[in-house]
Amino acid sequence: MARKWVYLFKEGDAGMRELLGGKGANLAEMTKIGLPVPQGFTITTEACTQYYEDGKTINDEIREQIDAHILKMEEITGKKFGDHENPLLVSVRSGARASMPGMMDTILNLGLNEDVVRVLAEKSNNPRWAWDCYRRFIQMYSDVVMEVGKKYFEELIDEMKAKKGVTQDVDLTAEDLHELAEQFKAEYKSKIGSDFPSDPKEQLYGAIMAVFRSWDNPRANVYRRDNDIPYSWGTAVNVQSMAFGNMGDDCGTGVAFTRDPGTGAKGLFGEFLTNAQGEDVVAGVRTPMHINEMEQKFPEAFKQFTEVCQILEKHYRDMQDMEFTVEHGKLYMLQTRNGKRTAQAALKIACDLVDEGMRTEEEAVAMIDPRNLDTLLHPQFDQKALKAATPLGKGLGASPGAACGKVVFTADDAEVWAARGEKVILVRLETSPEDITGMKVAQGILTVRGGMTSHAAVVARGMGTCCVSGLGDIVMDEANKKFTLGGKTFHEGDFISLDGSTGNVYDGVIPTVDASIAGEFGRIMAWADKYRKLAVRTNADTPQDAKKARELGAEGIGLCRTEHMFFDPERIFAFREMIVSDTKEEREEALEKILPYQQGDFEALYEALEGNPVTIRFLDPPLHEFVPQEEEEIEKLAKAKNKSVQEIKDIITSLHEFNPMMGHRGLRLAVTYPEIAVMQTKAVIRAAINVQKKHPDWKMNPEIMIPLTSEVKEFNVVKKVVVETADEEIKKAGVNLAYQVGTMVEIPRACLTADEIAKNADFFCFGTNDLTQMTFGFSRDDAGKFLNAYYDNKIFESDPFAKLDQVGVGKLMKMAIELGKPVNPHLHVGICGEHGGDPSSVEFCHDIGLDYVSCSPFRVPVARLAAAQAQIKNPRK
Ligand code: ADP
Ligand code: MG
Ligand code: MG
Repeated sequence: MARKWVYLFKEGDAGMRELLGGKGANLAEMTKIGLPVPQGFTITTEACTQYYEDGKTINDEIREQIDAHILKMEEITGKKFGDHENPLLVSVRSGARASMPGMMDTILNLGLNEDVVRVLAEKSNNPRWAWDCYRRFIQMYSDVVMEVGKKYFEELIDEMKAKKGVTQDVDLTAEDLHELAEQFKAEYKSKIGSDFPSDPKEQLYGAIMAVFRSWDNPRANVYRRDNDIPYSWGTAVNVQSMAFGNMGDDCGTGVAFTRDPGTGAKGLFGEFLTNAQGEDVVAGVRTPMHINEMEQKFPEAFKQFTEVCQILEKHYRDMQDMEFTVEHGKLYMLQTRNGKRTAQAALKIACDLVDEGMRTEEEAVAMIDPRNLDTLLHPQFDQKALKAATPLGKGLGASPGAACGKVVFTADDAEVWAARGEKVILVRLETSPEDITGMKVAQGILTVRGGMTSHAAVVARGMGTCCVSGLGDIVMDEANKKFTLGGKTFHEGDFISLDGSTGNVYDGVIPTVDASIAGEFGRIMAWADKYRKLAVRTNADTPQDAKKARELGAEGIGLCRTEHMFFDPERIFAFREMIVSDTKEEREEALEKILPYQQGDFEALYEALEGNPVTIRFLDPPLHEFVPQEEEEIEKLAKAKNKSVQEIKDIITSLHEFNPMMGHRGLRLAVTYPEIAVMQTKAVIRAAINVQKKHPDWKMNPEIMIPLTSEVKEFNVVKKVVVETADEEIKKAGVNLAYQVGTMVEIPRACLTADEIAKNADFFCFGTNDLTQMTFGFSRDDAGKFLNAYYDNKIFESDPFAKLDQVGVGKLMKMAIELGKPVNPHLHVGICGEHGGDPSSVEFCHDIGLDYVSCSPFRVPVARLAAAQAQIKNPRK
């Protein structure tokens, strides 16, 4: 039996998302529960994968099934492709498993040609509609399938409007639209070199292939990488008979959410345009009306629509984002999906759904995308400063947040400016999918046109980027890179501030304040803590960072990098003295100067942690990172050490390494210069003793972490130094103090010999930054040079330094745990690379049995939530 490549909407349901894509599965589900959906069929995601396997062609088996389904569709609708009595017109729509705005644009009114359009014009007695459909179809097909740029057609429309003295598309007459269609076809011919295709079948296959092709376009690839969507999934294609919102004033089209996607507030939220089709609402062709105004225009359809909203929300038990069309007063549903929402709205909706009895706490926790929490942790405007400022203008608060930056006018400029470290606000007439990469790097987005459901708004909310849209008061001069608002002209590089909640735009920079976890955020976090098993610590080198992380819920420090403490001007000098010393005694003398500072640092850190665990990593980087570069500094050092400038320079030269990443660093330093480990141990232990005295109720138990172990014997050499020093300090102080000595696991050999090391170590902490570079054999500092080529060749789908390579690096981690835990039942295991704050990596850490993850302070809530979701998905004892 041949595989089934094509499904009628009647044959599917919401559970078939992987096969039918999100849009297809939900069209099927809406059909199943009896909602008014124009019928059609879905070509599966597997057909897309097959298309690529067959060398970008649709094979005969799939073609046969598509052809058979066209016949079925003709039967269901009673219309026929290319017919002169009752022609079938369809839309062709892409739909991946996860919604992807980076993909193909929809094609509407497919099936039209010179003959069919005349049949429609005549039979319907509505030539304006017929020609409107035709010109739209030529426009969309040329752009999407043949990749003739949109702008040529838009220019022709603008010329026509100017010629006729009208400002809006709807004011163009049947004759105007007819003329436009002819111009469009001529444009097509001049760009493509052949006539616009008139055979509906040919048009359909062209469109289907374009959808498949779009799966691999650069925009889609970037979007997938950012959103963890595997390339192997493929996209489905939906072929659906048309409902017409452009037949007159008793027709229209709209987009609506069952709750406010910006705030989460309950109640219908959306926009509607009369006598319009498809993307008109989103594209900002005309400014749409609020959904509630639909009630006056179309009372019947509106009533039905509000019922549908309730049915769908109950059915999916989540906020729905719906697209619909009204044809002569009759409602047609064209799409529903769980609506994209801001982080703020996501938290409110999840809590409300629990309170409304629709969801359990676990389900609410599982509903939040941890990656979005990031935005809530970013600074908000200082309310006082905000009140004192006068807005220049007010648009729609399309995506909340506070953004300040320099004005740029193109997505490309945004990228260039951001790459050199500038904060930018992207100001556009309206955005289109090509702008995605620029939108991504911008602090905020400001558009002149477009409503709450415009491209800019939807994408910005998805990315958690602040956006103000539809600020029509702006007088834009894109060509000269300037605009005027509130009587002031802004040029490229001028500062503005956007408030994405109110839609207000301000001149200059408005100060911001740190965010906090309160309200619904706090409630969700409390649920997350209730369900998670994995502990969450933080990487913090300073008491300020540690305090911030504690506020955000960190249960300890998983990594304190001590080298950062040496860069203070007073200390760095002593440290340099140590580096250029000739004897152990000299080095000890220099280290003695640093000891009190280091001890003070640790005391402050312990205080900030209030008795919770603190892991301190001993000196890790190669010494050349500390030596002076400036002549003046070198002279100063020479003087202090009674050496000639040349001697110092020679020492500096001698520290040069060919591959510092694998050079004289980590515990190798402590093996050659044990006095460094002695000094650091004294600081750790003395600080702990002091803090313990001050806070008898805390249970101090410092964790000393030796970096870069690859061989148990080298670990033992350093451990011996640490233990002897620590025990002596404790004895001298006449107190009891527990401490631990463990190691970073960041070299593959440490994983391979983890059973040996675990016998001697109290804990392991995976340093997955180094472990990743050592496992792949490339440096994270140089990977940027070839990663793009690796993405293009589908060798990598994501950056292994951001998202843990579970196959290779993950296997080493698993091996280390499996070898280590049995020989040392007390061994605790964590991770402290960048990956500790990446949700999919956190899930992996949960699954392989780590005790904790450690991440930067602002990732702590992300990790807490991801850890809870991992437990809910895959419970562990
Ligand atoms: P996107 O995924 O970008 O939202 P869609 O496939 O949903 O693209 O199509 C965009 C819009 O085109 C829809 O919101 C709807 O207004 C219009 N559209 C799509 N199919 C039809 C149809 N069969 N009849 C009428 N309008 C349609
Ligand atoms: Mg849609
Ligand atoms: Mg390291």
